[in-house]
Amino acid sequence: MSDKKPPEHAPMEQFPVEDNCLQIGGRPLTAIASEMGTTPFYAYDGAVMAAQVEKLRRELPAGLHLHYAMKANPMPAVVAHLAGLTDGLDVASAGELRIALATGTAPRSISFAGPGKSDEDLRLAVDAGVIINMESEGEMQRVAALATATGRTPPVAIRVNPDFELKAAGMKMGSGAKPFGVDAERVPAMLRALGELPLEFVGFHIFSGSQNLRPEAIVEAQASTFELAYRLAADAPRAVTWLNIGGGLGVPYFPGEQRLDLAPIAAGLRGLLAEAAEKLPGAEIVMELGRYLTAEAGAYVCQVVDRKESRGEVFLITNGGLHHHLAASGNFGQVIRKNYPLCLGNRVRAPEMEEVSVVGPLCTPLDILGAKMRLPRAAPGDLVVVYQSGAYGFSASPRGFLSHPEPREIFLPPA
Ligand SMILES: *Cc1c(COP(=O)(O)O)cnc(C)c1O
Repeated sequence: MSDKKPPEHAPMEQFPVEDNCLQIGGRPLTAIASEMGTTPFYAYDGAVMAAQVEKLRRELPAGLHLHYAMKANPMPAVVAHLAGLTDGLDVASAGELRIALATGTAPRSISFAGPGKSDEDLRLAVDAGVIINMESEGEMQRVAALATATGRTPPVAIRVNPDFELKAAGMKMGSGAKPFGVDAERVPAMLRALGELPLEFVGFHIFSGSQNLRPEAIVEAQASTFELAYRLAADAPRAVTWLNIGGGLGVPYFPGEQRLDLAPIAAGLRGLLAEAAEKLPGAEIVMELGRYLTAEAGAYVCQVVDRKESRGEVFLITNGGLHHHLAASGNFGQVIRKNYPLCLGNRVRAPEMEEVSVVGPLCTPLDILGAKMRLPRAAPGDLVVVYQSGAYGFSASPRGFLSHPEPREIFLPPA
């Protein structure tokens, strides 16, 4: 036995505690639960999102444009809130595009990425005048055909599959063989073809990965991103006016993970933006962030249905689980299952703690929200809260699996 202490979750302080009850959006969780009239639900705190954006604005260089990548949380109220705080929105489907347009965001501040855009998707994008991040030569020809048919000249960027890798990213989305973007080495030929088509070239979209908690790796990938953009710009039919450098900023989910230190990233970006001002004069530099803006602001709330013991272990069986929150169950791309941070929202601290496993109602051993965690001793009716649930929760879960009731969502605007 080693006496090394097991790693702990980063402190969760985004929701204050009053009278031993978690406060979300300035209101006691118990009051929110009564108003909802039912559990489980997701609650999103608009003030916490605003604080994340403010932190980025304070630390990162002023010239950088911040976009919200909607797939992290497409709830219309969340998108409308973030549309008002950021400089634009990134969408990845026609459904997201409709939500984005409904916020009144200028079409030029919306970009549409995603492999496999259908002709209907592209038609909507061309009609709306949003920037289309083209993911292949074939997609470029289909956009051009729509341009000819509609008499429009749609703004387009090329999504590049970079020839470098974002090290230590939770999810690598660039380098090697990928369905995303056009391999960097094929982009020069594509740019020459683009020059002959009725398309308005604006620039490049280079996204190398996501959920990164290592500043050095992010700084390095960003430097490589700008280098690649400069190289590719040499073959562009006109000046690059828009460069989306991706995002990748992670949030702490699991024991041992810490919040990202923005200082080194800010320092790196200051140098890179200064250089870009000379090499791509006038170009708008966009950073697109999903989870960094919403994850910390969201809580998933379910209720204990049963407390039982099995061969010396305690199980809290709740009415929520994998079907509502796939990521917290460990089944959304994780290789090794680890616990999200949890608490009892109506009894945050208690004299009596116990080790429990929090599971859902599904008939599968995969339905785990927390394995062997220390929580206050719980009883049926208590509210189990899963922190860090504002991104890739509701919309990223198989809600039809086992036909249990759907969770609800509530957005709590800042006071
Ligand atoms: C998913 C995705 C994002 C958002 O990633 P986060 O980790 O949530 O910040 C941004 N850009 C693209 C192209 C994506 O596919």
